[in-house]
Order: sequence, then structure tokens, then C-alpha cells
Amino acid sequence: MKTPHKHTWNPDRLDARAFAEAGGVLQLDTPLSRLPRLRNEAAGESAALGDVRWAARSEMRPGGAGAPRSPWMHLTAHATIALTCQRCLGPVDTPLEVDRWFRFVADEATAEAQDDDAEEDLLALEPRPNLFEVLEDELLMALPLVPLHGTCPVDVVLKAVDPEVPDEDVAMRKHPFAALERLKK
Ligand SMILES: [Zn+2]
Repeated sequence: MKTPHKHTWNPDRLDARAFAEAGGVLQLDTPLSRLPRLRNEAAGESAALGDVRWAARSEMRPGGAGAPRSPWMHLTAHATIALTCQRCLGPVDTPLEVDRWFRFVADEATAEAQDDDAEEDLLALEPRPNLFEVLEDELLMALPLVPLHGTCPVDVVLKAVDPEVPDEDVAMRKHPFAALERLKK
């Protein structure tokens, strides 16, 4: 029994066909910590920076030339993550946008076989896709190759190369446990 209006869609293992047939919509705010590969790209304390706001909307579309209808999904996302500026090594808030259409095909073999000919991205219906992984893949692709400030803030430059900090302190910060081991001896 289908009750599309009451349906709770599972983004970890989406029934993409049912989602499309119901004209399903998912809107979620996902903390960066839920996306570990993206989190790894983020500078220092950006875990506190907040959520990725994203949405998936789906519909059935007719195939060409008598082909059966297939499920399509539109994925959009907005996020701001702090990356490491490659000039001053300070954090640079970087907006990321995703706006992409996917067509679902039966399985991964079909997706691979059709990938070269399709303009849209293909996803397999089975195994059921994890939308968090799809989202994370797209956000990773949206990352700039070389993150840079438009104008590097001067105080960040000074902090990055601070002549006032004695070497010992730096070593302590970098290897707190190694330093502890040394103290024990
Ligand atoms: Zn910079």
C-alpha cells in the first residue's frame, strides 16, 4: 500500500523509484560531521561552521522512443566550508553549490554502460543509493582546486608564521603526546 504523503523517505537507502513515483521531496540540514570526506577537506575548527542544506526532488519522466518512464532526481545543496587558503594557510570560507540532475537506471552495470552517452548523471536503483554519499561526492567535486582568499587577512599571515612562539611550544602543540612521553622520562 502506497501512502506517498505520509511516507518517510530513507536517504541512507533510498527507494528511488517509489520516491520518483510519489514526486518525493526531501529537504535536510546535514552537519558537516556526517560527511567525513568533506569534513577532512575543511580547515581546523570548521566542524562548528554548520550544516549542509540540501534537497532532493524526484519525478518520473518518459523515456525517448517508447522506452519506459524512468525516475529522475534533482539534487541541490548549499554549504559554506572553511578551506585552507593556499597563500596564507588561514581558513577561507568557501561557498559550495550543487545543482544537478540524475537519472536512475536498473543497476550499476547499466549505469556504467550508459554513462558515456548520457549528459545527465546516472545512478543505480539497486543497490539502493545512499543520498548522503551522492551529496558528498557532488560537494567534493564542487571544491575549488586551489582555495584562496581574495585578499589574505594580515593577522592570519602573522599567526601562521609567528616568530614569538618558541620552538618547544610549537613542538608541544604538534606532538603533545610525544612531548608528554619526554617529560615522563
Ligand atoms: Zn589567504
